[in-house]
Amino acid sequence: MEPELQDAIRRVHLIVGNARTEGYHVVVGTGSTILFQAALYALSSSSAVVAQPMKVVCAAPYYSQYKEQVELLQSRLYEWGGDANTYDDEDKTAPFIEVVTSPNNPDGSLREATVANKTENGGKLIHDLAYYWPNYTPITRPEDHDIMLFTLTKCTGHAGSRIGWALVKDVAVAQKMTSFMQITTIGVSKDSQLRAARILQVVADDCESKAGAFGYGGDDADRTFFGECRKVMAGRWEKLREAVKGNDVFGLPKYPKRYCNFSGRYFQPAPAFGWLECKEGYDASALMKANNVLTRGGDTFGASNRYTRISMIGREEEFDRFLERISGIHCVNEDEDKEGEEGLVVIHDNNGNARRGNGNFLHEVK
Ligand code: PMP
Repeated sequence: MEPELQDAIRRVHLIVGNARTEGYHVVVGTGSTILFQAALYALSSSSAVVAQPMKVVCAAPYYSQYKEQVELLQSRLYEWGGDANTYDDEDKTAPFIEVVTSPNNPDGSLREATVANKTENGGKLIHDLAYYWPNYTPITRPEDHDIMLFTLTKCTGHAGSRIGWALVKDVAVAQKMTSFMQITTIGVSKDSQLRAARILQVVADDCESKAGAFGYGGDDADRTFFGECRKVMAGRWEKLREAVKGNDVFGLPKYPKRYCNFSGRYFQPAPAFGWLECKEGYDASALMKANNVLTRGGDTFGASNRYTRISMIGREEEFDRFLERISGIHCVNEDEDKEGEEGLVVIHDNNGNARRGNGNFLHEVK
């Protein structure tokens, strides 16, 4: 790992206060995606003889890629165990891995381990903290879990540079993760590492230059890179809530205000994704698709298709167009005797065409 990158990562975490780095080893990866796999390998290959694949669980709704990645190679080391809420291994002493995503993708909730805390031997934990930055959520404490994954993709938005990092407590686990990186990729692009280091240095310098005599907080924090990003995200959430208000088809989660140590104020999370809930009996992503909005349906996240995930971090004009499209959706209950069908809903799209929705199926009514 490039020393500049390691220094910049530690410095940014210290400034933001979202994770402890003292006593942690930093492992760099080509995005945090591969570090998730490196962590699975490190945790599941530790016993000399692997009797049976270790179950990997995550509370639903979960980030869809975990399941795909766990299942891809049909490994003998680990296998997908599904929703942590319903995970019920007969042999409670069997080791397992729980992934905790906080704030969660897709629903933005703040999470703690679900099963790992309840079992006697405890599961092994991977904390995916990709969104634990003040652009999205109040920073309430520095996290100090065994394995914490972060990524430049969500911290600054430089997804294409493919740089992620893991903060790992146990040196043996960190070494295994590093060796996974070496074997699978030989190494992480030096160009990208230097670019990421520079980006994080600029972010850190910016925070420090705006810190008043008493440190960060209040107006000072609002003018930093993170503060400016938070304003954009908060503005988008306000517009989204406005667009679905008065429309009795959709609902959005409510997030309580919390005090952010970095920003020195209370604010509501403004997650990178909106977890849109549809009226009972509707397929949310089909409904969006009928209105020319492509989203990821609830079933990809281990949840009901009444939900769908929408991105809040696209380009401004894309987001505005999306708002226009969903603002045009509203529902009207048809007359009970009309065609003898009760309780159907007519969705009017932006072209003034009415579509009737009855769950998975949407069709033109005129
Ligand atoms: N974890 C979560 C929860 C994510 O949402 C994403 C990106 N969608 C990632 C990891 C992967 O990020 P990266 O670009 O670093 O591979």
